[in-house]
Amino acid sequence: MTASLLLRNVRPYAGPAVDMLIENGRITRIASGIEAPAGVAVEDGRGEIVIPGLVEAHTHLDKSLWGLPWYTNEVGPKLLDKIDNERENKKRLDIDPARQSARQSIQSSLMGSTHIRSHVDVDTEHGLWGVEGVMATRDGYRDIIDIELVAFPQSGLLRRPGTLELMDQAMKAGCEIVGGLDPCAIDRDPKGHLDAVFALCQTYGKPLDIHLHEPGEMGLFSTELIIERTRALGMKGKVTISHAFSLGAEPALVDPVIEQLAALDIAIMTTGPASRPAPPVKKLLAAGVRVCSGNDGIRDTWGPYGNADMLERAMFIGLRNNLRRDDELRLALDVCTTEGAKVMEIAGYGVAEGCNADFVILPGETVAEAIVTRSPKRRVVKRGKIVARDGVSIRTAP
Ligand SMILES: [Zn+2]
Repeated sequence: MTASLLLRNVRPYAGPAVDMLIENGRITRIASGIEAPAGVAVEDGRGEIVIPGLVEAHTHLDKSLWGLPWYTNEVGPKLLDKIDNERENKKRLDIDPARQSARQSIQSSLMGSTHIRSHVDVDTEHGLWGVEGVMATRDGYRDIIDIELVAFPQSGLLRRPGTLELMDQAMKAGCEIVGGLDPCAIDRDPKGHLDAVFALCQTYGKPLDIHLHEPGEMGLFSTELIIERTRALGMKGKVTISHAFSLGAEPALVDPVIEQLAALDIAIMTTGPASRPAPPVKKLLAAGVRVCSGNDGIRDTWGPYGNADMLERAMFIGLRNNLRRDDELRLALDVCTTEGAKVMEIAGYGVAEGCNADFVILPGETVAEAIVTRSPKRRVVKRGKIVARDGVSIRTAP
């Protein structure tokens, strides 16, 4: 075994200072005063904090406008306005999925993410253009980040004939997760939509991650249908509901649903949205529900916000859920790290001996301070190698 990196004087989770020895992409020793093996590169940790690699568990790599001219957003108020506007203008705006996903992946990596789950549009206008582009990035940038793809029927599944067949092709092509979208509000056929996406899961033996923006009782109804199918098909632990705004409804309606989510180990993804009802993160975690997070779309035709920073996302989770205590901010970080890793079923994740050497070194006295400060002075380690330093990646964006 060849030693590849010795990190001196770092503080995992802001604890006591230690050294970390990285060999063959893994953390092999954490102790104080580790003797440097011959020929090993030594990096001064300067007493900074180490956290595991940030997990971007929900984004859309195929359609960010990152690096393109500023897009003047004049889109209508409804969800369908945004969906149609994007699909109709994708080619005109030169949103090439391969180039744009590479740009966002580099940005994501230099902000400290080591894993991404990306939903990727599958529709009858663009076919598998998005899937092929993001797969090229997944393969071409494996040295700095791991990417998994969700085949995502953004424009609806049943309301646009031919989409289901394309979803099947996307799964055949190697997408890791089946996606879905608002079975009532967009497809207007909850039973048809859910039966179709769950059938794809069964055919390919893959998990489901479904966008559910539906509010209030409509969203809770769809959630119940998802719960029923998860139970009937033995898909415990294999389903994620993204956004789940309806879980922000009154507790009398939501609490019984949370119990069922916990019983079937159905995960929830929340961005901690400022403008929508949001799932109660602390209550979900306390009930044993896995809760992950993501930046969702970054600088796209849906909205101008985002810089791919999952530490900023941890802060948004904190703000949205009124998390103020240091132990609560740690929960927000867990949502953006370990919880996301559980949802993505990442093996060997964490900052401990034997884990993959995927982590971030960043300044701060405590974890809570690191979250609220969000220092750009981050060193990002992927597969045992420093892949970004102070906002500069080892890879150049196309
Ligand atoms: Zn999304």
